[in-house]
Amino acid sequence: MRLLLKRDDLLHPPVSGSKWRKLGPNLEQARRRGLGTLLTFGGAWSNHLRAAAAAGREAGLRTVGVVRGDELRGRPLNPSLAQAAADGMELEFLDRASWRRRTEPDVLGPLLRRYGPAWVVPEGGSNAPGVRGCATLGRELAAEPVEVVCCSVGTGGVLAGLAAGLAPRQRALGIAALAHVPLAVETEELQHRAWGGRRGSWRIETGFARRGYGRTDPELLYAVDEFARTNGVVLDPCYEGKALLAVRALAEQGEFARGTTTVLVVAGSGTPGVEWSSPRSRPIP
Ligand SMILES: *Cc1c(COP(=O)(O)O)cnc(C)c1O
Repeated sequence: MRLLLKRDDLLHPPVSGSKWRKLGPNLEQARRRGLGTLLTFGGAWSNHLRAAAAAGREAGLRTVGVVRGDELRGRPLNPSLAQAAADGMELEFLDRASWRRRTEPDVLGPLLRRYGPAWVVPEGGSNAPGVRGCATLGRELAAEPVEVVCCSVGTGGVLAGLAAGLAPRQRALGIAALAHVPLAVETEELQHRAWGGRRGSWRIETGFARRGYGRTDPELLYAVDEFARTNGVVLDPCYEGKALLAVRALAEQGEFARGTTTVLVVAGSGTPGVEWSSPRSRPIP
């Protein structure tokens, strides 16, 4: 098989890649409603929060980032949140019990009273406008001589949009980067919200998430290092690194017919300045 990369990470730096496809339409929604603030959610290492901060800064929109967990409140920020704060994002830390109920009026209401009227965007930027924005990714590949398009799945927004934009002869294969989430259900739900029904041919492989989001191990880090050395592209181990290992394993299992051209979507890059790869990582026999 041939494996090509779709370099969405180069799409709109510093708003990394596919996040721009989701955030662009959301900034437009905020503007159309005359809302000067974008309020959104994410974990402490969320690429989405970092991208939203950069996009808001560029668009002249105030951004508020609601972070899962209150253990970082009043403590030094990690490099990802520090970058978001440097781009002007105001950060609010929610304890995990409140986080689970973040869209309910008794949690969201006080936030909106504190920060004023805002365009509220869910985790990962995956709402209907965001998903529709990602359909352009599929459309850009629809005329290409490509049979399968693989992407890493966090919230399912990229996969939902990608699959909808591909040609009927093409299929999308999502590789779950998170464990313990019914991602296929959520992706289907996102397609329903964006288009009122399921679109395109897609499925999600859930067996390659390793121990969950943000978890790495020597085999994964070695694969990312080796890929960077041989191809000059640094994959985010939390997302596309796992997808790369999945594609290799699936190829060995006969997933791709002989001569298939498969595209791996590089949806973005990890936090600048965060060294995941270790110089001590060694080939795994
Ligand atoms: C956000 C992100 C994804 C996954 O996108 P979802 O729409 O949340 O599934 C994949 N790769 C990278 C680098 C990302 O930042």
